[in-house]
Amino acid sequence: MRLILLGPPGAGKGTQAKKLVEKYGIPQISTGDILREAVKNGTPLGKEAKAYMDKGELVTDAIVVGIIRDRLQEKDCEKGYILDGFPRTVPQADELKKALSEMGQSIDSVLSIVVANDELIKRLTGRRTCKECGAGYHIMFKAPKTEGVCDKCQGPLFQRDDDKEETIKNRLAVYNDQTEPLIEYYKKDGALVDIEGTGGIDEIFGRICAVIEK
Ligand code: ADP
Ligand code: ADP
Ligand code: ZN
Repeated sequence: MRLILLGPPGAGKGTQAKKLVEKYGIPQISTGDILREAVKNGTPLGKEAKAYMDKGELVTDAIVVGIIRDRLQEKDCEKGYILDGFPRTVPQADELKKALSEMGQSIDSVLSIVVANDELIKRLTGRRTCKECGAGYHIMFKAPKTEGVCDKCQGPLFQRDDDKEETIKNRLAVYNDQTEPLIEYYKKDGALVDIEGTGGIDEIFGRICAVIEK
């Protein structure tokens, strides 16, 4: 099963991807997570990406396409994968198509998670992540049992640098400009399905499973 999760920042792509990993045993491939790891480790890639990420701009297509090409070659992708946050531009989608055809693969579903802008801002400003295991939380909508502490591993929770109000506004504008055209792109391909992204996390997961098991 090969899936793309498409949607604006805060739509719940990471949250739903983690549930898909648990249920179907296929890996989540998040270019955002891979880039943040590179920034944390101070690699050349991380140094180049950081300036873009801090401003809420997209990293260049060449960088993320290179990351994805390498990642899709890894053994755990044989059974399938969930692309979370990639592609984000039309050139990235074209490059993905090329890479997939070279591998004799295709995408089964593109799930477009739809959430209104005011809700996205609430979700992003309250987002917290575990430093140790990457589990996602929200201070209101998915609060941990103890404030600032991960339920799963007791690790400390942190707020992403780019989840500050000013950067969020830019990220949403960047989404509208550069990523939203992918909805039409994949509609033409016939692989796109809209998922209503407001409601409970499990309720939305049910909608996703109903689509991909069809
Ligand atoms: P969110 O989960 O809020 O949508 P991500 O973690 O996916 O955010 O991405 C964080 C940042 O990483 C983006 O603002 C961008 O700078 C960079 N990034 C992630 N994926 C891509 C991509 N496919 N193309 C370009 N930049 C990306
Ligand atoms: P994305 O990866 O698309 O940027 P996330 O999965 O990180 O989005 O979710 C953004 C924030 O919204 C997180 O704090 C998450 O806990 C919260 N969240 C996710 N799904 C829902 C939902 N259905 N209702 C309310 N909050 C949600
Ligand atoms: Zn944790």
